Amino acid sequence: MLCLASESACDICLDAFDNKHKVPCVLDCGHVFCQSCIPRVDPPVCPVCREEFDPQHFIKMYGINIPTTTGPLYSEASHIRKAIEDVINLGTTETEVPGLIAECKAFARLREQEFDDLRNTCRLLVHLCNVQTRLNQHERLVKSLQEERVNFQASENDLRRKLNETQSSMIDLLK
Ligand SMILES: [Zn+2]
Ligand SMILES: [Zn+2]
Repeated sequence: MLCLASESACDICLDAFDNKHKVPCVLDCGHVFCQSCIPRVDPPVCPVCREEFDPQHFIKMYGINIPTTTGPLYSEASHIRKAIEDVINLGTTETEVPGLIAECKAFARLREQEFDDLRNTCRLLVHLCNVQTRLNQHERLVKSLQEERVNFQASENDLRRKLNETQSSMIDLLK
């Protein structure tokens, strides 16, 4: 059975194909546009390959398997997409991201073939989290080294002062 990808849309009006008003129609050249756009193409040349076509002659692909993009699965997918968008646009905290990743993974596991975008974004989030964790570890290390340096500096100053004191008392004794 002929099957359109879920994001298939008419290149003229950019609307998704359906089996009612936006029926996909194939021209003689092989390019596909929706039923409502084809009669409006004037002059009648294919917008993709510029081949002339007969506006009365094209094949409507009724009954084609157009994947539904509605239903609970799709609204959950768009909910997750929105959450990811928020992370990208507004930033997030380290405690929030693992929850989103878990949600993303659990959802992607439901569907093996679809929602590749969510699967890929999930991988990206996991990677970013790992990078962030490593950065935080480095930051903590740098901070503790800096503290150590300050402490060393203090004890060095202390030792120098004591050395000076000892030297001057020795000089006093030798007088
Ligand atoms: Zn169209
Ligand atoms: Zn064409």
